[in-house]
Amino acid sequence: MRVISVGNGVAGTTAARLIAERDQGVEVVLCSDEPYLYYPRPRLIDLVGCQVSPEQMPQFPPEWYAQRGITLRLNCRVEAVYPEARRVLFQNGEEMTYDRLMLATGARAWVPPISGADLPGVYTLRTLADGLALCQAAHQAKHAVVLGGGLLGLDASSALLAHGLEITVVEVMPRLLPRQLDAEGAAVLQARLEARGLRFAIGEGCVAIEGDGRVRQIVLQSGRVLPAEMVVISAGVRANTALAQAAGLACGRGVVVDDRMQTSAPDIYAAGDVAEFRGVMWGIIPAALAQARVAAAQIVGESEVRYEEIVPSTTLKVSGIDLTSIGEVNPERPGFEEVRFSQDGVYKKAVLREGRIVGAIILGDRAEVRAINQLIAKGVDVSPYAEDLFRPGFDLMALAQGSAVLRPRV
Ligand SMILES: Cc1cc2nc3c(=O)[nH]c(=O)nc-3n(C[C@H](O)[C@H](O)[C@H](O)COP(=O)(O)OP(=O)(O)OC[C@H]3O[C@@H](n4cnc5c(N)ncnc54)[C@H](O)[C@@H]3O)c2cc1C
Repeated sequence: MRVISVGNGVAGTTAARLIAERDQGVEVVLCSDEPYLYYPRPRLIDLVGCQVSPEQMPQFPPEWYAQRGITLRLNCRVEAVYPEARRVLFQNGEEMTYDRLMLATGARAWVPPISGADLPGVYTLRTLADGLALCQAAHQAKHAVVLGGGLLGLDASSALLAHGLEITVVEVMPRLLPRQLDAEGAAVLQARLEARGLRFAIGEGCVAIEGDGRVRQIVLQSGRVLPAEMVVISAGVRANTALAQAAGLACGRGVVVDDRMQTSAPDIYAAGDVAEFRGVMWGIIPAALAQARVAAAQIVGESEVRYEEIVPSTTLKVSGIDLTSIGEVNPERPGFEEVRFSQDGVYKKAVLREGRIVGAIILGDRAEVRAINQLIAKGVDVSPYAEDLFRPGFDLMALAQGSAVLRPRV
């Protein structure tokens, strides 16, 4: 049996590894249009922040693939898939048949239609090539503007500080990380990032990027002008669905899959940022990993393995500031209870429904993240201790593991 994985990101590489390890009789071909061995994209932040060199980016050396019998094809774009003939067409005109196909084509950075967004000096950050270009530009610039105060925009901005630039983050929403934080948490985070040297323009968008032949400044909705020799656009991603669409597979915002990661075409699976399951696309590594595991199991014939929706958990790695946001953090319907703690730049919030934690924000502290994750996963009734959850000294892990007799404060 031959399995071709289109894309060598975390989804494609994980699936290829699992298939090769479970069934050595399978020929696994892993191809990518990028010229690089698999690298975890979060490491791009370390590259931009001068923490790692380009040579340190690959997760595995070339022999790792050879040892597992995985045939790696880099710089090898798949141009077309022919489901009925079970064939793919590579960029170089070569064709190859498959028994099972794994679509792990991921996503690309989205650039909104802002005038001047095509000027030299305007960047996105998705690939290693983007990261290298950003580093080079940062050496020569004095002012940078990052459009987008989401997770990636903040991570990239903080990393760029290592180059000694003056950096302004522009966020059109009224606060940072609106999906992951509430207003109080966003204010705490912004204050901490400002203390590290970032500047913010919150609540107004960028209407134009200007320059003669190269970016020089950006114009905000209010008319305010910010100097910028480089601009980084961090406005979200779009799934790479073109290949699947042209092959006639059912697509929404992503390639539609069922709980076996099966697409609408026989023997074609999809996982990771390109896959859409029940209308949801997370765009994060835990989902890509979980989906790749299911696809790999299905491909080697473990048909009982199914995908279950994950509780989204996001961690922001701005050095010195830990932020974890899990599940429902901004409930807009009645029936929820909130428990908060805020002190010295540390902010914690748990959102409870019927006594169970269904969402949490933990900013400036990592100690309780595991316990909170377990409490959510196990659906522990915390209502007798709701007031005590974030009280210093209260043992959340004991509560999660039921390993100690805990008494609520009288
Ligand atoms: C800077 C950065 C930081 C991040 N930090 C985090 C984080 O902290 N936590 C987290 O959970 N997530 C993070 N993410 C998101 C995470 O990286 C993605 O969810 C993950 O990369 C998705 O993996 P994937 O394999 O589905 O797709 P991708 O990583 O996008 O890989 C898809 C690959 O397929 C290739 N490809 C596409 N089309 C073709 C074709 N036709 N032929 C051949 N190859 C093709 C692409 O070039 C690419 O190499 C971050 C992303 C970035 C960019």
